[in-house]
Amino acid sequence: MEYVILAVVIAVVAIGAITGLVVSGRRRKELDRPSQAPTITAPAPAKPAPTEPEAEVEPGAEVEPGAAVEPGAEQPAAQQPTAEEPTAEEVRAEEAEAAPAIEVPEPTAGRLVRLRSRLSRSQSTLGKGLLTLLSRDRLDEDTWEEIEETLLTADVGVAATQELVDNLRTRVKVLGTRTPDELRGLLREELVKLIGTDSDRTVRSVKHEDGPAVVLVVGVNGVGKTTTTGKLARVLVADGRKVVLGAADTFRAAAADQLQTWGERVGAHTVRGPEGGDPASVAFDAVKQGIADGVDTVLVDTAGRLHTKTGLMDELGKVKRVVEKHGPVDEVLLVLDATTGQNGLVQARVFAEVVDITGIVLTKLDGTAKGGIVISVQRELGVPVKLIGLGEGADDLAPFEPGAFVDALLG
Ligand code: GDP
Repeated sequence: MEYVILAVVIAVVAIGAITGLVVSGRRRKELDRPSQAPTITAPAPAKPAPTEPEAEVEPGAEVEPGAAVEPGAEQPAAQQPTAEEPTAEEVRAEEAEAAPAIEVPEPTAGRLVRLRSRLSRSQSTLGKGLLTLLSRDRLDEDTWEEIEETLLTADVGVAATQELVDNLRTRVKVLGTRTPDELRGLLREELVKLIGTDSDRTVRSVKHEDGPAVVLVVGVNGVGKTTTTGKLARVLVADGRKVVLGAADTFRAAAADQLQTWGERVGAHTVRGPEGGDPASVAFDAVKQGIADGVDTVLVDTAGRLHTKTGLMDELGKVKRVVEKHGPVDEVLLVLDATTGQNGLVQARVFAEVVDITGIVLTKLDGTAKGGIVISVQRELGVPVKLIGLGEGADDLAPFEPGAFVDALLG
């Protein structure tokens, strides 16, 4: 009997022990499960369908058109619950808070007149020199040669110089007596005629029904391309436009930071990509951002490496083609450094062969006596000068007006 009771007790204890082990094993499995849960659910928000607009990656993490999202851009989404992930608007709001106070750029109307002293200081050899020569008692062959020389030194170009001298000679002869005012009026008229008043010099920046106007800014490194893009953003903002900037000069180390700083000053968002990344991809994303934000104008600063014409053609051609997937490019502005004279004209020729230039920006006209390049570059390309740079200040970029320009030259 005792043996029977002992056997029953042992059986009960054994059953209890086995049940305990099974239950604790299940608990352990249940405890393990929550740590796996995010890995199972996270991929949905982390890998959005490429076609959905909501799936847009924040501007900092750039994507090749049609390419997979960079692994670096996915990580935050995979590690954090979706609910805590900041939205693009929140990121933008944070950026705006961190950014310096937004400035109000100077109005663009009359900028050239306000900045005229910058021109006349360095251009005196052209305007004042010509007036002095024309005021001589006797206008003999030597004097006309000196007039020609002055025009050529100022980079007016051979054909334009000849035209100007021929016209002046005829008109001076007809005039008979010459008062300083008459001479000034004569020279003004002839110079304005050479520059031309018929061209449309406005930068095409008005929004279309289905998207923003797109402006590509091209030119070799060092001419002031990035600075001009930043200043142009101010010009457009001053004229009431909403702007997005594309930092597609991914080859010059500081270019994107430089452009972003310009943008922040006037409240324009800058789309950028990884250093050395594909410029066309950044340009594409910038226009995409501009469409999403409903802005008026997207300004794209391009890379300006002029190693070979083929290289340039490949690079700029690709930027233009990729951007055109969104719609036509409205304006291709070529930036030229006025102080480089003939070299600037050589650059202009190369760029014009690669891409259809629609307007010229002449920078650093405050630092040269070669203002005649306005005339020669227009003749060379058959494209109008639309803007001129007259200093390093934020609002030292002026819409080009032939009359005001010549007045500044003549002092
Ligand atoms: P990028 O390499 O063509 O993008 O050249 P940047 O935009 O970096 O400009 C090169 C330098 O030219 C900078 O120091 C600018 O401040 C200067 N710069 C640009 N435009 C003008 C201008 O109109 N006048 C003067 N004096 N300097 C300018």
